[in-house]
Amino acid sequence: MSDRHHGRLAAAAEGAGAAGFAAVMVAPSPDLAYLTGYDPPPFERLTLLVVRPGSPAVLIVPELEKALAQECPVGREIEILAWTDGDDPYEAAAALLPGEGRIAVGDRMWASHLLGLQWQRPKVGFLPASSVIWRLRAVKDDEELAILARAGRGADETFREICGLAFEGRREDEVAADLARLLVENGHDRSAFTIVASGPNGASPHHAPGSRTIRAGDAVVLDFGGELGGYFSDTTRTVVVKEPPEGFAEIYDLVREAQEAAFRAVKPGAAAQDVDRAARDLIVDAGHGDEFFHRTGHGIGLEVHEPPYIVEGNATTLESGMTFSIEPGIYFDGRFGVRIEDIVAVVDEGAERLNRSTRDPQIVS
Ligand code: ZN
Ligand code: ZN
Ligand code: ZN
Repeated sequence: MSDRHHGRLAAAAEGAGAAGFAAVMVAPSPDLAYLTGYDPPPFERLTLLVVRPGSPAVLIVPELEKALAQECPVGREIEILAWTDGDDPYEAAAALLPGEGRIAVGDRMWASHLLGLQWQRPKVGFLPASSVIWRLRAVKDDEELAILARAGRGADETFREICGLAFEGRREDEVAADLARLLVENGHDRSAFTIVASGPNGASPHHAPGSRTIRAGDAVVLDFGGELGGYFSDTTRTVVVKEPPEGFAEIYDLVREAQEAAFRAVKPGAAAQDVDRAARDLIVDAGHGDEFFHRTGHGIGLEVHEPPYIVEGNATTLESGMTFSIEPGIYFDGRFGVRIEDIVAVVDEGAERLNRSTRDPQIVS
């Protein structure tokens, strides 16, 4: 068994015990990939990892996927329990569980599977497994940090290259297709998302790139990322086409300062909400609090959005090895938006950017 998966399974079992859970149960999801290296797509047939304090882990799989499961990094070491079409897999799973108490289930488990388990064990309290697993996943090891850094560099190079391509006269979805291609050319296994939000569309933070033709005088928000070795990149830059729209320069500087202030607030021992406050205070003081209407950031790793969330009310203590985005934005309905986003890693001395492309305003043509 790979040492890293062995350690993660042991930590999950220990965390489950400490939290008073009789078991942690995880269906196909980033949690399963994290704990075992096995990453099949979620299906209606039950695949379920059962981790219990003091007992070896068991992986329940459909018979037709047994061979596949055996090839995963832990496949030859943990017990694999195969069930055949026509059998009741929930009965088989319940046989591993106590009749009452508390069990943690992965947040991404389909309701159909949880309902099947609940039917078998009506007296058991089922609670989200994220309370046990999120902290394990949030603190990245050196190998994970190296992959995230590599993904970040690929995203940076993608931005550098997109700035050399034409914007004016082209549609948002054409520029988005270029971003997707460049992400792959720069080392990603696939593109995951490519937001190109031009002119007034930039005021919608999750705008889906469409048929709008980009014009001179537009600000364009580019928010893109890809998957590399199971991990994600996610960066945002806002460029202007030939000349900035009215009022852009001052807002750009403000967002850039807010992003820098948040970056400087990152250190082990700080609270997640401290980082949000550092960015938000500047923007509120400048009178634009209402135009910054989302959290400052999100954790990133095996998912694009995962804990810790950088948001008011989250007192989670930052630890060395945590990775998350810092992405303040200001949005003016009907006019333009500005967002600047980097992924950062908490390190012993403070923070390190995994995105290093220029934050100086970029003029494209
Ligand atoms: Zn977003
Ligand atoms: Zn983003
Ligand atoms: Zn993001």
